[in-house]
Amino acid sequence: MSYTPMIQQYLAVKAQYPDAFLFFRLGDFYEMFFEDAKKASKELEIALTSRNGGKDEYIPMCGVPYHAAKQYIKVLIDKGYKIAICEQMEDPKQAKGMVRREVIQMITPGTVMEDESLEPKKNNYLAALSAFSDGSYGFALSDLTTGETKVTLISGWDGVIQEIDANDVREIVLNPGFDKEKKETLTEQLSVTVSENESDKVPGELEANTAGIDQEKLRSPLGRLLNYLQTTQKRSLDHLQPADVYHINEYMMIDPHSRRNLELTQTNRDKKTYGSLLWLLDDVKTAMGGRRLKQWIEKPLLNQEKIEERLNAVEALKTHMLERETLRAALGEVYDLERLVGRVSFGNVNPREVLQLKRSLEQVPPIKQVLAEIGDSTLERYGQEMDPCADVRSLIDRAIVDDPPFSTADGGMIKQGYDETLDRYRDASKNGKRWIAELEAKERQETGIKSLKIGYNRVFGYYIEVSRPNLKLLPEGRYERRQTLSNAERFITPELKEKEQVILEAEEKRVGLEYQIFSDVRLKIKEHAARLQKLARLVSSLDVLQSFASVSDRNGYVAPSFSNKRVLKIKNSRHPVIEKVMKDGSFVANDISMDKSCDMLLITGPNMGGKSTYMRQAALAAIMAQIGCFVPADQATLPVFDQIFTRIGAADDLVSGQSTFMVEMNEAKYALAHATQNSLILLDEIGRGTSTYDGIAIAQAIVEYIHQHISAKTFFSTHYHELTFLEMKLSRLKNIHVGAMEENGKVIFLHKVLDGQADKSYGIHVAKLAGLPDNLIERADEILRGLEQSSDSHKASEEQPDSVHEPKVVEEIAATERNSSLESANEEAEQLAFFADPVPKSMK
Ligand code: ADP
Repeated sequence: MSYTPMIQQYLAVKAQYPDAFLFFRLGDFYEMFFEDAKKASKELEIALTSRNGGKDEYIPMCGVPYHAAKQYIKVLIDKGYKIAICEQMEDPKQAKGMVRREVIQMITPGTVMEDESLEPKKNNYLAALSAFSDGSYGFALSDLTTGETKVTLISGWDGVIQEIDANDVREIVLNPGFDKEKKETLTEQLSVTVSENESDKVPGELEANTAGIDQEKLRSPLGRLLNYLQTTQKRSLDHLQPADVYHINEYMMIDPHSRRNLELTQTNRDKKTYGSLLWLLDDVKTAMGGRRLKQWIEKPLLNQEKIEERLNAVEALKTHMLERETLRAALGEVYDLERLVGRVSFGNVNPREVLQLKRSLEQVPPIKQVLAEIGDSTLERYGQEMDPCADVRSLIDRAIVDDPPFSTADGGMIKQGYDETLDRYRDASKNGKRWIAELEAKERQETGIKSLKIGYNRVFGYYIEVSRPNLKLLPEGRYERRQTLSNAERFITPELKEKEQVILEAEEKRVGLEYQIFSDVRLKIKEHAARLQKLARLVSSLDVLQSFASVSDRNGYVAPSFSNKRVLKIKNSRHPVIEKVMKDGSFVANDISMDKSCDMLLITGPNMGGKSTYMRQAALAAIMAQIGCFVPADQATLPVFDQIFTRIGAADDLVSGQSTFMVEMNEAKYALAHATQNSLILLDEIGRGTSTYDGIAIAQAIVEYIHQHISAKTFFSTHYHELTFLEMKLSRLKNIHVGAMEENGKVIFLHKVLDGQADKSYGIHVAKLAGLPDNLIERADEILRGLEQSSDSHKASEEQPDSVHEPKVVEEIAATERNSSLESANEEAEQLAFFADPVPKSMK
């Protein structure tokens, strides 16, 4: 026995799409069979059924209704799957034998165009890679929804990971033989869907998209990308913009760990935007401004001139409040131009959206006017470059009614006067309807039946209805009987049917013609895609600049200035997000001060004292400055940093399965390998993940290494007070500490950063507050004094820091303290225990 012809057809198509769910159109459903059905029924939580397919065993099957497919597609796309849409290519009623079916489109995470699966303020990038024998990679990127296409060359794998992480890459196309381990990194750690495409030749039809690019290392990834788009989308890709060649060394490098640590676009705890820098700086009025903002935050600039251009524009917008409000109001009326253009080209734009395009274009002239008046050269240039696309706007204005329907199915979207033929059809149907109204009046008069009426329904067409009591007034044979209802009879006349024919024909033609005209208008708009896209770019950048101005104004930020003299001086610096979340204005501002004689700050002080907040705010200030935003301070001078490295916290270490210490060392290694003297390094409590002596030794060696070999501006927080002696040894290292004090038996964190090292006995002090036995505290004091003495000799013999301590004694104290702090019952002690360091207090 063999499968039925339909199942055979299914299997033949499925064989071409092994890695996608095949949505096989059967009437009003998309059906799935075999393994696809089993998997889809689980993922979509729909019933798994079965059907006879010609053989003995039944075939697993499940399906989704055609009209609700979008929501199921979204679920699968969100989970990283691909879907091949297989349609009936002919009307089943007219088909001889099997209905012809073809895959008309692949929907994948990186090519999805459906609004349901997209986030307005997030790009949806498809990437492609080509690996070369010298270890370098060609990397291409495209957002099908906006048409943006970019390509660059990256010297090594680390850079590829960073680039993927810095963009919202959802899917990446590789050559079939791509390195398996690296592929796994992409899927497992970066959650990118991996696809394959053999060819890296630029398709002939898309040659123009690579205009001016002849370097093979750039053409290859572009070719792979464009090839994949063509084979999966099977339709016009006219809105894809010519590829833009960019250079990753024009942007500040921030590795994926540091991005997360600094919570640039999402928080560590719950992966939400709320509480991130992106959230703080987002006061944009358009979705495309939201996407641009995210791009800017992910890629701070290195070119001081370009940064200052942005800063000057922000300054102008900040001071011109009235103009800014006018701009914001206008931007508020601008829809997602970029994605609208994408949909126009892709062919899935609806009449409402075309009208949105017009509404958006109407805002351009007032925007241009404000930009011309505001007195900033960059904004002036923006204004000049903005093309109001008046021709497109007037086309839409002439063609599309002011309140069009969503769907093109019943017409009603084309304006009177736009097309003569259409108007004639409209007249015909209007005249016909008038004739019918006249007929109704005439028949009422002639028969004397006042309630006689002419109605219409889809089954019987136009009819004359006479209610039962009036039937007797009707002369015999005046009308032909058509339908009997309980309380009325319906009739027709040959004349009525004749008119009906005319009216219906005109209606049908009208709907058909409206659809055709709408498609024409769409194609005409599409010709201007490039102009509209350029306009969208300018508008979105303007939106980000006004957002920076608004946020800076509201929160009291200042314009940073840049120094090439190795100066990092921020007066009354604040952490912008914590300050914002605290709301009550209780955030304590602190100075950050490093000049060319100081490259390292060694920060000591109790847990929860504000050490990591202080170093984070330095990094955030640098990033904010280099994206062109003002910074939270009274005054700020910074170098242009080329890279930022961080080793902070352990929040995301648990998932990766590595030990905290290993993660720490990996991140430190990464920083040491890549940092330059123009970088910013933040190291928070390095060495805490291992035993005390190990920890101190590693921490000290790292500080020394950075000081001697890298000279990057470095913040190093530690609870190892032993390290503070390094100030005397390393000329460009300075001790600072966060202040804390005791009041009425409670620890009060001042969050004030002060010069010098923290009070060494602080740990014992806290232990005392926690209620540890008096004699234990006395003993701790004694040990501390001993340690201090040996620490002095330790300074004398720095070469062997380990030999001077007595590990056994220290560990005893540690154990005692742990137990005691765990057992302490009173509230205050619990609070204090919460602050307790994981290392012996006696070391403080
Ligand atoms: P540490 O790194 O020293 O353990 P954190 O920097 O994590 O301390 O700060 C602990 C908490 O103290 C923060 O979550 C914040 O709520 C608060 N904090 C830190 N710095 C300040 C400050 N300058 N002003 C007000 N509160 C602060």
